[in-house]
Amino acid sequence: MPYDVIIAGAGPVGLFLAFELGLAGTSVLVLERMEDPHSPLKEGWMGMRGLNFPSVDAFYRRGLLKDVRESSLAWMEAAKPGFEMNSQSKTSAPPLRFAGHFAGIMLDANKIDLSSQQYLVQGPSSAGGLASLEGLEEVLAEYALKLGVEVKRGMPVIDFTESEDGVTVQAGNESFQCKWLVGCDGGRSTVRKLAGFEFAGTDPEFTGYSAWVEIADPEKLSPGFNLTPHGMYVNGPGPGRIGLVDFDNAAFDRDHEITLESLQAILRRVSNTDVTIKTLHVATSYTDRARQATTYRKGRVLLAGDAAHIHSPLGGQGLNTGLGDAMNLGWKLAATIKGWAPEDLLDTYTAERHPVGAWALNWTRAQVAIMRPNPHAQAITTVIRDLINTKDGANYFVEKISGILLRYDLPGDHPLIGRSAPDLEFEDGSRLGPLLQDGTGLLLDLSATEELSTLGRKWNGRVKYVAAQAKDNKGLAALLLRPDGFVAWAADADPNLTALEETISRWFGSPA
Ligand SMILES: Cc1cc2nc3c(=O)[nH]c(=O)nc-3n(C[C@H](O)[C@H](O)[C@H](O)COP(=O)(O)OP(=O)(O)OC[C@H]3O[C@@H](n4cnc5c(N)ncnc54)[C@H](O)[C@@H]3O)c2cc1C
Repeated sequence: MPYDVIIAGAGPVGLFLAFELGLAGTSVLVLERMEDPHSPLKEGWMGMRGLNFPSVDAFYRRGLLKDVRESSLAWMEAAKPGFEMNSQSKTSAPPLRFAGHFAGIMLDANKIDLSSQQYLVQGPSSAGGLASLEGLEEVLAEYALKLGVEVKRGMPVIDFTESEDGVTVQAGNESFQCKWLVGCDGGRSTVRKLAGFEFAGTDPEFTGYSAWVEIADPEKLSPGFNLTPHGMYVNGPGPGRIGLVDFDNAAFDRDHEITLESLQAILRRVSNTDVTIKTLHVATSYTDRARQATTYRKGRVLLAGDAAHIHSPLGGQGLNTGLGDAMNLGWKLAATIKGWAPEDLLDTYTAERHPVGAWALNWTRAQVAIMRPNPHAQAITTVIRDLINTKDGANYFVEKISGILLRYDLPGDHPLIGRSAPDLEFEDGSRLGPLLQDGTGLLLDLSATEELSTLGRKWNGRVKYVAAQAKDNKGLAALLLRPDGFVAWAADADPNLTALEETISRWFGSPA
């Protein structure tokens, strides 16, 4: 087979998955429909996408964080909530004190206190970013290409046939062979439709708009998120960027052009002002249709990102969920291709990521429910506003939005199992995160025991054994991490070596 994997779609998820697969030494071809990677919809503030903790952590662990950060529009350290603008953001706006929102109701950064989270460690990845899609894709493409990934643009996947040992993919007038096909081709995924994945969910109630405009009388609009009796308008961040949520029963035909006149009429209605749009540079629309593939794998075809789950952008979860899919799938698919994956490893991809996608759909549905333009919804909004303004409420919402408590349902009793590993700092000043840069599993021995070192030698090649003293070991004696940085096993004292070895086999098969 010429390629191990073909990925349809060079969006952020397809490119990050290609990077992960390239890192694991598989041969990857990415087929992208669009000839030109640039688009005014992906550039600058129009392409703004919030990156949450798991995404930032993933980039940090793979050594991409510096470049992702430099390409971003703004960045926020958890230690001092409030976004600092980057020079690329081309705006002189003051730093934003923004910690997130729920249906346009702001979280008060000053009320957030995560100190009760036992395993949370402040480090370089304790941050959130406002990326531009274009900047992010550029960084991911660059890193993927360095690993030997091929990207062919102007190549829409139009068909494929699957046999017992591979897939033949047709793109444009050419066909390509691979062992596995992954659809990262967005919400209207051709791969998903051709493969016959069931895409279950709910129909939309609103049309949303994101636009870059010049406004004649900007003082008529309030800054930030504004929930109104007719929907919501968002003024900023970035000069001339507006967002709109119009409860029109999703009646707008999204194949129709958005004109200055139509956008102005909606902005006036939703904002209840007579504001005037002078110039419309670019605009796009979306809805709150919420659907998810019931499984992420059918035979040799897999889905990730928007191809697997769609929902409204409320709360900024789509990209983050997709990047999480890629981090989860990459090493499992690579292990399957390399032949060392345990029997059911690839199926744990759906088992772990489907619930995360289902949560994102529900998180956005809950926001739609309280934004509806009726008195009942508005009454619930008042209740939520009161709750968000309490310390517990602010913590609850930020924990959900930031993804810091994401936990997979993995076997084992320790409270860290299934969670992302804390970025422990070692006595020599180095940290845990970069130990995952090569994409292999990690057996971290925090109490330097001979038995663990022997076990580490036995599993060398599958799992990297590292003994290190942590400045604050959080009461941990040893940890087993999967290549995605999630904890598969942990011990506070006297590691149970039988349980550890069973867990290593469960994720890594047999010794190399
Ligand atoms: C206004 C707005 C704001 C948002 N804000 C946030 C946010 O703050 N945080 C967040 O996490 N998410 C946000 N999202 C969602 C986020 O943009 C998406 O979830 C994310 O882009 C999905 O990435 P993807 O790679 O799966 O799909 P896409 O970005 O859609 O990429 C798919 C790629 O596949 C290509 N393609 C399509 N069909 C084919 C084919 N047949 N063959 C080959 N290639 C094909 C496309 O050209 C595209 O390049 C927002 C979305 C919108 C609309």
